[in-house]
Amino acid sequence: MMNSPRTVAFSKNATNVFFHILTACNLRCRHCYINPSQQGAEALDINTITAWLNAFAAKKNLPNVIFLGGEPTLHPELPLAVKHARRLGYQSITIDTNGYLFHDILHRLNPDDVDFFSFSLDGATPGVNDSLRGDGAYHACLKGIRQAVSRGFHTSLIYTVSSANLHELEKMPELLADLGIRRFFIQVVGIRGKLAQTAASEPDRINQVSPDQWLREVPAVAQKAAMMGISVTYPRVFLKTGEPFECAGRVADNYFIFPNGRVYQCPLCEDYPLHSKILENNRLISTPGINEADLFKLDIPEGCVMNRIIQPGNIRYLSDGSPEYRIACCLLKEEIYGG
Ligand code: SF4
Ligand code: SF4
Repeated sequence: MMNSPRTVAFSKNATNVFFHILTACNLRCRHCYINPSQQGAEALDINTITAWLNAFAAKKNLPNVIFLGGEPTLHPELPLAVKHARRLGYQSITIDTNGYLFHDILHRLNPDDVDFFSFSLDGATPGVNDSLRGDGAYHACLKGIRQAVSRGFHTSLIYTVSSANLHELEKMPELLADLGIRRFFIQVVGIRGKLAQTAASEPDRINQVSPDQWLREVPAVAQKAAMMGISVTYPRVFLKTGEPFECAGRVADNYFIFPNGRVYQCPLCEDYPLHSKILENNRLISTPGINEADLFKLDIPEGCVMNRIIQPGNIRYLSDGSPEYRIACCLLKEEIYGG
C-alpha cells in the first residue's frame, strides 16, 4: 500500500534550536552555506554553550536542539554540551555531521544521550559526492555511519539536492537500506554562503533544480524510500494554486544560532546582518532597527519574500507579470512515513 505525504504545519508549540557551536570545518564543500564573516569564526567555549542552552530551556516549550557547525564534532567538548541539553530536558538532541566523527565522539556518548546522528551525503557514489564535498568524503561518511549504527545510535541522512546530484537521488533508498538508516531528509541547495559568492555565469556553478525537475523526481524517490520502510522529510518548495502561503518567521518558533551571538528566525537571512535576535550576556534579546522580522510581514505575489530578494532567478513570470508559481517557505516540509 502507498503511503501519502503529509504537510508538517508550522507551530508555535514546538521550539527548534539550530545551534552552530563553531563554523570551522575539515571539509570545503562547494555549496557550503556557512559564512564566518557574518556568523563568527570562533568556537564557543563550553560555558557559553551551556549558558545559551539554559536560555532556550527556559522557554514555554522544551526545545529540540540540533548541534551544527562547521563540523560540530570538531568541538572537543560537544559531549558535555549534549549531556547538558539532556539534563535540561530538551525534547530531542541531534548532531549533524559530515561523518568524520572527530574526538572519539561515538565512545564519549551513549545511544541514550543523543536522539540522532544525522549524516550529510550528497551523492550515491563517490564520484558525485566527492565532486561536491571533497576527495574521500564519501568513504569517510559511510565508515562513520557504519560505526554509529554498530554502536547502537539512531542515524539519519541529509541529501542536499542540486543540479549536480539530482540524477543520483533515485539510488539513495537502496544505499540507506544497506546502511541501516531509517530516516531520510532531502533538502534544496541554498544560494547562500559559498554559492552566493560564486558568479551565476561560472560554468561549474551548482544551481537549484527547476520546479519541473523537483516535482518529477523528489516525491517519487520519497515514495520509493517509504515503501522500503524509510521515513522521508522533504521541502514543499512550490505551492499549488490556491494553497495558502505561510512564513515560518511569523508562525513558528525556530532559532538559528551562530557563534557571534546572532540568532536568526529565517535561514535564508544568514548571509546578512538581518537577525531579529541576539544573545547578549547569555540572554536572548530582540535587535532594534530593520531586520528579518520586518520582511516576514510583507505579503508578495511570489510567496517567500527572502526567495524574491536573494534567489530571484528561480521565479518565472507569466506575460501579465504575475508569478507562474509561488515559492513556499523553505521550512515547509512534507513528511512520508516508512513502512
Ligand atoms: S561539511 Fe558542512 S560545514 Fe563543512 S564544508 Fe561541508 S557544508 Fe560546510
Ligand atoms: S524562507 Fe521565506 S517564508 Fe520562510 S521564514 Fe524565511 S522569509 Fe519567511
